[in-house]
Amino acid sequence: MKNKEKIAIYPGSFDPITNGHLDILKRALSIFDKVILLLAHNPNKNGRFTPKERIEMMKEATKDLDNVVVDMSDELSVDYALKHDATHMIRGLRAVSDFEYEFQLSSANRFASKDIDMVFFMANGKYSFITSSAIMELYEGGKDVSELVPPCVIKMLKKR
Ligand code: ADP
Repeated sequence: MKNKEKIAIYPGSFDPITNGHLDILKRALSIFDKVILLLAHNPNKNGRFTPKERIEMMKEATKDLDNVVVDMSDELSVDYALKHDATHMIRGLRAVSDFEYEFQLSSANRFASKDIDMVFFMANGKYSFITSSAIMELYEGGKDVSELVPPCVIKMLKKR
């Protein structure tokens, strides 16, 4: 019997994508055959970057990684996962403060579908303080954030 491809989605706002996100993505690729990096777009929430800009940065930042697909969806992430044959959803945990939100999210997802399970990766210590908003604050405060985000994000920040 042919083994079925193991597919996971990694949903998030990626506003913008950071090296913390990329670290989680690469670790997920060591377990799954394919990971869909999904801009889970909430049309009622205004982001810092437009969905188009975020997707552009997500694509550029992952162009050298095999088995990554970048996509966007405004439906529930579990529904997207079911439609795309994914069995798992990837998330990252930086601190205890993330736990509460992620635990609530995983319970809501379980309520929505029992067929999609969540897989959590603990943040790499060197990236554990990185949030998209911290990046923006540091950058706007004149600090060099090139160690924290991929080069395409720096390019986009300079363009704004
Ligand atoms: P959301 O708005 O859905 O939380 P984010 O883009 O902020 O979207 O984060 C997506 C996922 O990546 C979340 O599970 C978050 O905890 C995780 N994450 C974000 N930054 C990091 C980081 N530096 N290290 C590990 N995980 C991270």
